[in-house]
Amino acid sequence: MVALTAPEAFLVAARVRKNARVVAAINEVHNKTRELTLEQRLRSGIMCALLDEKVCSIYPARPLGCHGFVSVNLDACIAAFVNGAPPDIPMPSEYATVLYACRMLLMAALRLLRLNDSSYEMNAALAAILSQENAEARWLAGENVFAGVPTLAPPPPQFDLAINEMAAYVAPTL
Ligand code: SF4
Repeated sequence: MVALTAPEAFLVAARVRKNARVVAAINEVHNKTRELTLEQRLRSGIMCALLDEKVCSIYPARPLGCHGFVSVNLDACIAAFVNGAPPDIPMPSEYATVLYACRMLLMAALRLLRLNDSSYEMNAALAAILSQENAEARWLAGENVFAGVPTLAPPPPQFDLAINEMAAYVAPTL
């Protein structure tokens, strides 16, 4: 389950829009997973729609969450994602720290631009974007092109406060 913001989703959508096979895979995975809880989804073994021959087909444009989800243990990944064991995957904490910092900066930038900084589940967001013409331009113009796409939990209060402080710190320089 990948969470992302609108700009990350538009970046991925631009990479896959002309690839009918990937667009079909996104819609198929979205339809299979949209009603599942996170636990059901993990147990389902349904792979990311953007995998192609076991490789990420949009790797340079992958969402921030994918950047931060770094494993240094192949056996632990195979146990969890191939053999269905409960996920217990060692990940270097530095990646998570950088991920949180980048995500907060992105959200601060969105707030400065008065754009929506909500997070969405990746397939749901991509399916919405790919089903519409000029979704990114319309979103930038203030239209809610994600109507009907559930938003994920907002940042916890202390992160929310820090994001607002970042935005307030930069605002006078614009
Ligand atoms: S890295 Fe690529 S294939 Fe893996 S979950 Fe992220 S988008 Fe999907």
